[in-house]
Amino acid sequence: MTESVREILARPAAGGGARVRGWVKTARHSKGVSFLEVSDGSCFDGLQVVAAPELPNFESEVRRIGTGWAVDVEGELADSPGKGQRFELQARSVAIVGETGADYPLQKKRHSFEFLRDIAHLRPRTNTIGAVLRVRNAASHAVHSFFQERGFVQLHAPVITASDCEGAGEMFRVTTLDPASPPRGEGGEVDYAQDFFGREAFLTVSGQLEAEIGAAALSNVYTFGPTFRAENSNTSRHLSEFWMVEPEMAFCDLEGNAELAEAFLKHVIRAVLERCPDDMAFFNERIEKGVLDTLAHVVDSPFERLSYSEAVEILEASGRDFDFPVKWGADLQSEHERFLAEEHVKRPIVVTDYPKNIKPFYMYVNDDGRSVRAMDVLVPKVGEIIGGSQREHRLEVLEARMQEQGLSQDDYWWYLDLRRHGSVPHAGFGLGFERVVQFVTGMANIRDVIPFPRVPGSAEF
Ligand code: ATP
Ligand code: MG
Repeated sequence: MTESVREILARPAAGGGARVRGWVKTARHSKGVSFLEVSDGSCFDGLQVVAAPELPNFESEVRRIGTGWAVDVEGELADSPGKGQRFELQARSVAIVGETGADYPLQKKRHSFEFLRDIAHLRPRTNTIGAVLRVRNAASHAVHSFFQERGFVQLHAPVITASDCEGAGEMFRVTTLDPASPPRGEGGEVDYAQDFFGREAFLTVSGQLEAEIGAAALSNVYTFGPTFRAENSNTSRHLSEFWMVEPEMAFCDLEGNAELAEAFLKHVIRAVLERCPDDMAFFNERIEKGVLDTLAHVVDSPFERLSYSEAVEILEASGRDFDFPVKWGADLQSEHERFLAEEHVKRPIVVTDYPKNIKPFYMYVNDDGRSVRAMDVLVPKVGEIIGGSQREHRLEVLEARMQEQGLSQDDYWWYLDLRRHGSVPHAGFGLGFERVVQFVTGMANIRDVIPFPRVPGSAEF
């Protein structure tokens, strides 16, 4: 493997040979010399290549090089007299590996993010999406390092499942039946007993129920995998396929859960700031002014804690004219969440103890009988970033809740069985990985922080 641009730029001093292979970001051909900025994606900056007329292919090839061409350059690393870069590579040879046509869509001008989504196969070569992908990678690594350092075991939850964890019915069906003529039962309904799995199956909306199985044996586990929601939400914060991080801890209550969530978010932010300073400087300057200050503030200050009831009081007293009315019992909408995090406390908040009627069956019912030990972590700009709870570990209460919500106990027999055998208090949360990347980078639309966004009406690439 050749040295990456990142490694070359990190050399202590100029001098010595170097080789760079990558794609030309910009080419400037002035009289008697060509300047190529070559990027290999290893870091935000490219390496400046200087090509002089002595090169045998100078006139025939080098002069033709334009944006997007793939090149392989060898030369001498020298201090750069030019502004904006420390080193330049004085080329001894410039080989052309791949040309682009005149229709190469990434010219040196600003492209809208909407346009770039239509060329998702090329957009990683732009400054912004390249930076997003490196930050995303650093955040992903930080997810694992956080849990691994604390002794959590990664549990690989299934992608195909028969249970609807959120009970919201927003699942994608997995089937091999012929849609034109599926086998039918006597009443004319589709007979899924004849389907591939011998029953109805779906893409998972959450690995939580399986993570609970893991926690009931290994104590502290986490999942990190893709999850799917067939909800028709055309918002800047929803994807049909997104990555979720779900820790689950045995012998843990809601307080312990909230502490973990706070430590976790701070760890991920710190790791990104440390590993991607150049990318983050770019986001701070070009995407969201001040995002670095916001993140420094988040890392340094304790998260606010509020109960849902207190949050409702604050919203009612705010004098704001919200689109959705605020009243005890109704779910908080994104405008409410953003008001609380962005304007009221100006940093992340953990809101706890939501009304039980708006939350799924598996959350621990409080003694008041009307609220559950749920928590949402809200951050400025993005709103909800984490949803979690202490789980209901008492068999009778859980059965009653399932009945209330019209869920079949047969479908969840194994989940109930866990409550019969060594059931312990436990808690966990789900964090939408893309929302974290959005928060950290300041990118406005969630479709631009995942390489290949899946949203209603679109699954290209
Ligand atoms: P929201 O109210 O924003 O739709 P939710 O209450 O449906 O979120 P949960 O079911 O609690 O979310 O999922 C846990 C986390 O997964 C959320 O806090 C969020 O960060 C993320 N998440 C949920 N739905 C999506 C989605 N469609 N796209 C991206 N991330 C999501
Ligand atoms: Mg939702």
